[in-house]
Amino acid sequence: VESWRFVADVHLARLAKYLRLFGFDTLYFSSIGDEELIHIATTQGRTILTKDRDLARQTPQAYLVQPKGLEAQLERLFADLQLRIQRPFSRCMVDNTLLEPIAKEAILERIPPKVREWCETFWYCPGCQRIYWRGSHWERMQLMVERFGGGTP
Ligand SMILES: [Zn+2]
Repeated sequence: VESWRFVADVHLARLAKYLRLFGFDTLYFSSIGDEELIHIATTQGRTILTKDRDLARQTPQAYLVQPKGLEAQLERLFADLQLRIQRPFSRCMVDNTLLEPIAKEAILERIPPKVREWCETFWYCPGCQRIYWRGSHWERMQLMVERFGGGTP
């Protein structure tokens, strides 16, 4: 099973976020130079996702993202690289860290009272300490996962 790892350029924050949602190991920095992108790609075996034609020409490890909208970008990327969603919802969308399950009792005071009433399953990010659960936001995300062939976890 191939597993793609990415590093996205500064123009592709949303694309990076959704690739993380789909479970792909994807780095993103709001400020980073071409040389460092190439260095990271080379040393860590990552594919650079970029909107910069010059950068794409500089290294075979870059993939030029051409469509404008997020969904069009994802569609093209999935088709060109034949991506398959393997572990949706396994990573923090904010910082790429793998999420870990956490007991409800351990985070009671950190979740809204309404959520406390109905939700029993939670994950947390060891990187930024965010708590994740399957709320209304999750349902929208789930539609995206299904749209790109990820099924229901
Ligand atoms: Zn995080």
